[in-house]
Amino acid sequence: MKQLYIAGRWLDGTATTTTRSPSDRNDVVGEYASAGAEEAALAVAAAHAAAPGWALSGVQMRADALDAIGSELLARKSELGTLLAREEGKTLPEAIGEVARAGAIFKFYAQEALRVRGDRLASVRPGVDVDVTREPVGVVGIIAPWNFPIAIPAWKIAPALAYGNTVVFKPAEIVPGSAWALAEIISRAGLPPGVFNLAMGPGRVVGEAMLNDARVHAISFTGSTSTGERVMLACARRRARVQLEMGGKNPLVVLADADLDVAVNAAIQGSFFSTGQRCTASSRLIVDEAIYGRFVDAMAGRMAALKVGNALEQGIDIGPVVDASQLEQDLSYIGIAKQEGARLVCGGERLQRDTEGYFLSPALFADCAPGMRHAREEIFGPVASVIPAKGYEHALALANDTEFGLTAGICTTSLKHATHFKRHAKAGMVMVNLPTAGVDYHVPFGGTKASSYGPREQGSNAVEFFATVKTSYTSA
Ligand code: NAD
Repeated sequence: MKQLYIAGRWLDGTATTTTRSPSDRNDVVGEYASAGAEEAALAVAAAHAAAPGWALSGVQMRADALDAIGSELLARKSELGTLLAREEGKTLPEAIGEVARAGAIFKFYAQEALRVRGDRLASVRPGVDVDVTREPVGVVGIIAPWNFPIAIPAWKIAPALAYGNTVVFKPAEIVPGSAWALAEIISRAGLPPGVFNLAMGPGRVVGEAMLNDARVHAISFTGSTSTGERVMLACARRRARVQLEMGGKNPLVVLADADLDVAVNAAIQGSFFSTGQRCTASSRLIVDEAIYGRFVDAMAGRMAALKVGNALEQGIDIGPVVDASQLEQDLSYIGIAKQEGARLVCGGERLQRDTEGYFLSPALFADCAPGMRHAREEIFGPVASVIPAKGYEHALALANDTEFGLTAGICTTSLKHATHFKRHAKAGMVMVNLPTAGVDYHVPFGGTKASSYGPREQGSNAVEFFATVKTSYTSA
């Protein structure tokens, strides 16, 4: 059984979890310890005890440790990618790409650790100097989702450690194997005991224990909007620093002047790759009436050629849905869309395979009205809705008519419309002639409205969350 990692030691939890592959229910991925409230408190205590020493550690030591973690992730990307694909169900190339991305992120923050900047300003008072410096926050609790079980933890853990914080990492319940593999690499990077701790376990127990413990100074959360709201309230009650990355219902606008191939490629990749289980997935395809029919036909043609199957098989485009409850949610929204009067163009069927995996053919609904539930609420599966628009202004209004604001895309050959869209789309990330999903690892990531709260993740901006600013005055 794979154990918890607390205070530099591997420990049992209060329970064990056995995970099976969503591609093949007979494939047992592993058996993992699951923490209870007691182990969660031990992990927080370990991080708390290690915080003062780590805050004073030299940045070279931090940079070396992060660089070593990055190198090992890159060297073992195929092996770890295979584990990730088995456990979470994204296809093997996507999973290997995710591990490589995590490796690049650790290497990026190894360099960023050496670049923490301060500022000296002249005071309004004669003979006084003003220094603005950055300091570690303290103990950071990291609560992660299942859909990027290595890359998302990496982009929280790496900056937390780079800027001198200690970490308690709680992965999502259904992906302990990927989290454990990442933690095992971190455990051999030469960090002092307690600087990094892994507490796998239920959100309601381990997550809540982290939220309610005054020794945890900051929480970095990624997950659903409903859990994010709970996290925010708990942090507000004890005035802990908080960063939330939550749901999305991302629009991809296709204008009449778009290159149809570019638009269909963007829509297929954005809507269905990673089985649509990405916060940045394009689930609302807003298409100008002038090319609406041609776009829907071209999508159906491309979708007929998509191969759905075991994530580990060669040539598969779309792996399984992650688990039974997500499959139930997808099927329930497909039923809702039909009842709402949307036209099912293709897909949306539970596929039987001899492995009994959770396979669903990607679904395309056309003639959707913007008010329909399936076109407004996050489904988090391979289901896309096509909404007709009367020209650019109408398409922009439809794109912005959502409670979410993570990514927004436009396919057009008009510089004028692309520029206007970049300025006026209410989203944290805007894509022109690209899928709404698929972001770089070294630039800010995050959204607006119900999608995000707090400073941006990723890139050099991560320092805004993972370090505090101190202003000191000196009279010589
Ligand atoms: P989730 O909200 O169910 O769980 C996320 C994490 O929160 C898990 O680790 C879970 O154990 C924990 N948790 C659950 N209840 C908790 C509680 N009461 N207290 C503390 N922690 C608790 O989300 P999920 O199903 O794992 O992930 C899917 C969601 O994540 C989707 O909504 C997706 O859009 C979102 N997501 C957002 C981004 C982004 O960057 N915006 C990225 C990936 C996923």
